[in-house]
Amino acid sequence: MIKAQLESILGAGSVLCRQPLSQYTSFRVGGPAEYLVRPGDYSQVAQVIAYCAENGIQWHVLGRGTNLLVSDKGLSGVVIALGDNLARISVAGAKIVAQAGASLPRVSSVALVNSLAGLEFASGIPGSVGGAVVMNAGAYDGEMKDVLRRVLAVNSQGELVTFSLQEMELGYRSSAFQSNGHIVLEAELELLPGDARAIQEKMNEFNRRRWEKQPLDKASAGSTFKRPRGHYAGQLIESCNLRGMTLGGAAVSEKHCGFIINANQATAQDIFNLIRKVQEEVEKKHNILLVPEVKIWGEFQ
Ligand SMILES: Cc1cc2nc3c(=O)[nH]c(=O)nc-3n(C[C@H](O)[C@H](O)[C@H](O)COP(=O)(O)OP(=O)(O)OC[C@H]3O[C@@H](n4cnc5c(N)ncnc54)[C@H](O)[C@@H]3O)c2cc1C
Repeated sequence: MIKAQLESILGAGSVLCRQPLSQYTSFRVGGPAEYLVRPGDYSQVAQVIAYCAENGIQWHVLGRGTNLLVSDKGLSGVVIALGDNLARISVAGAKIVAQAGASLPRVSSVALVNSLAGLEFASGIPGSVGGAVVMNAGAYDGEMKDVLRRVLAVNSQGELVTFSLQEMELGYRSSAFQSNGHIVLEAELELLPGDARAIQEKMNEFNRRRWEKQPLDKASAGSTFKRPRGHYAGQLIESCNLRGMTLGGAAVSEKHCGFIINANQATAQDIFNLIRKVQEEVEKKHNILLVPEVKIWGEFQ
């Protein structure tokens, strides 16, 4: 029934049932989504949301899955995946408009090709534009807030809404979209005319630093925890002698303690348990509660 209704919106054969989410997350863990859909335009996104709202069906929106820990038990309801199906990028002068599923490294390289500066920080962040807006993703003293001008979103009733920069309430790895239940559909970025060679050099330098410091050859979701005010999560974790600690197949990275990695066929529960263990140890020693930056979906023990 639900499958047939979704197919009437999205087309026959377009609804995947019991699709393992481990295939869609950078941690490479996560059980099945009851239904997974890939809308091809904004109207389809709005119709799916409206259908779910009318019928009390739970839904989640998935970008490129690079900041997610999904339960081994999977998710009931509908996962709305926005990736290459909604990834158009257009350039007009110093403005770039990108659909939510476009990858951030791809948008950064479009900026480079057009000699537009300001998005160098994003060239190594592996998420989607939508995920980056929602997380106010950032690195090396840059963040989405610096370049965002406007976002088009759809609310939980399926209506289109435009957000100005101020209305997005962007803060450190936070935005209004984390609580308002809207889906980001597209973002307008404003960059500055620059010199392509200088932009490329800056990107190369940031990416060199990433490869030097971060376990990029291992499955992870980037920094597991937010940076507590006045501290670095990695340093706090290291000071508790947790470097390299393992629980099941999950490990605190030897290379960077702020990253929990899927070291050896971890389950989502292994990763969750290690997150809890790290939080406990850091709180015991420093009286600081590390807050996960990674979004946690579904049930854990
Ligand atoms: C190796 C590695 C390095 C990383 N480095 C950085 C870094 O330097 N800086 C940084 O900030 N992050 C970093 N990250 C984390 C991650 O890439 C970012 O948080 C990114 O913005 C997440 O985008 P995503 O599309 O993967 O989101 P997902 O993981 O798919 O989703 C994350 C959250 O955003 C929501 N969401 C996604 N798309 C939408 C949408 N269109 N509308 C509404 N909600 C949406 C999801 O529901 C979920 O709550 C790194 C991750 C990895 C694996």
